Amino acid sequence: MLELQDLDLQLDVVAHKRKSLPEHQALAELGAEKAVVDRELVAADTLVSDLRREQKKADSDVEQVRQRKARNQQRLDSGQVTSPKDLENLQHEIGSLDRRISDLEDAELEVMERLEAAEATQADLQGRAAAFAGRQAELESSRDAALKDLDEQRATLGDQRASLAAELPDDLITQYQRLRERNGGIGAAPLVGKRCMGCRMELAPSDLNKMKATAPDVVLRCEECGRILVRTPESAV
Ligand SMILES: [Zn+2]
Repeated sequence: MLELQDLDLQLDVVAHKRKSLPEHQALAELGAEKAVVDRELVAADTLVSDLRREQKKADSDVEQVRQRKARNQQRLDSGQVTSPKDLENLQHEIGSLDRRISDLEDAELEVMERLEAAEATQADLQGRAAAFAGRQAELESSRDAALKDLDEQRATLGDQRASLAAELPDDLITQYQRLRERNGGIGAAPLVGKRCMGCRMELAPSDLNKMKATAPDVVLRCEECGRILVRTPESAV
């Protein structure tokens, strides 16, 4: 009985270790931080692709106006336009196209600067996300190794417990389990001298006398805590 109790306590320790592995906590914290970076990265990816599109548009805007200006310049240079009025109009248009090109180039430059900044942010976030992923993989493999070790311990203890339990009567096991659940994991304790080692109380002389008169195959219970009391060579009964 006491061996079974001891194995159950060892199994409790293994179960507690499984639940309280430091990797669980570290992974939860890391996961929360990583989620923030992942969200920021999605936003950065969107911004970069928007700005790339904007940049293409700005490039093509500049290009279109440049071509228009080149066509006008060609007409001017060709000497085909002779009327002074038409020439003046053409020169005037070329002038306004120059100003338009200059405005569009400013806009193009501004988009390029914003794109560069966005790409730098994106690269930084990608680096951080990769570092998180690496750390996460390390923690997971360390957690899995610890769990595997604890699973092996649990299996070994479980086998020992099964063969011990098979030697004890079913109703005693059932009673012990119930007591264990109610009493912080300890359902059976040795009687050492006059003391129940489950609740650490000394038993009353009248109870001890009753126990002395009880047949050795009858299961004793502590009058104080109700736990199964196991007779040992150190028991006062
Ligand atoms: Zn007791």
